Amino acid sequence: QAGLLLVSTPIGNARDITLRALDALREADVLVAEDTRSLRRLMEIHGVPLAGRPLLAYHDHSGPPARQKVLAYLTEGQRVVYASEAGTPLIADPGYDLVRAAREAGVAVSAAPGPAAAIMALSLSGLPTDRFFFAGFLPSQAGGRRKALRALGAVPGTLIFYESPKRLKKSLADMAEILGPGRDAVVARELTKLFEQVAAAPLGDLAERYAEAATPKGEIVVLVGPGAEGEIGEDDLTALLQAALARHSTKDA
Ligand code: SAM
Repeated sequence: QAGLLLVSTPIGNARDITLRALDALREADVLVAEDTRSLRRLMEIHGVPLAGRPLLAYHDHSGPPARQKVLAYLTEGQRVVYASEAGTPLIADPGYDLVRAAREAGVAVSAAPGPAAAIMALSLSGLPTDRFFFAGFLPSQAGGRRKALRALGAVPGTLIFYESPKRLKKSLADMAEILGPGRDAVVARELTKLFEQVAAAPLGDLAERYAEAATPKGEIVVLVGPGAEGEIGEDDLTALLQAALARHSTKDA
């Protein structure tokens, strides 16, 4: 079918590709990827030939000309697949501008869904899953990170962060201080890979453990369970947010 198909790719284990994703990669007229080398490699692993089809790199930062090129294929009625380097496209990854532009151009947009590190980590975590907030990557500078954490403190659900190994220590220390050392937390590392590890402990304990350890290797998701505010205020998000805002303005005054 003509249109844009968002294809999810594995987050570590190449066998986590879906049959539908493989069909889509085989049948597309045009292949677009965040990283063309990793898509080529994935196709090689699964025996899907490129067979002379266009393979384009696309990143939201590639700018309007790259987007126009993809849109031109779409408006001609071609079947275009867009794959991220790993996991679900657009989830802490590029593609948002492309999907918006395709929708605005009246192009059909669908997906062949698959792995996303945030969702896998959440289901393994043992933390509440009924409400969660995906916070993506925290700002890398301490000031921005601490401000973001203060704003997230009152969210009535499990918080999910993507984190880099070199910032893990500092982020856990700031989380323990700002969100509270007693909140249940999880560090999920190298999901679907050989050294998959899920460490669960109160935030303060995790912060201490990682402060003393060598910089961890690999890819990391950090999850923080809801605080007492989350439990008390579940019925009234507005009241919670107003309370959080009031706290901020007194602090700022
Ligand atoms: N689109 C991807 C998804 O659906 O999960 C996320 C891409 S984002 C640029 C990369 C970040 O996702 C990593 O820094 C890490 O925080 C997280 N991540 C990706 N793969 C992971 C894995 N196998 N184990 C743990 N975290 C992972």
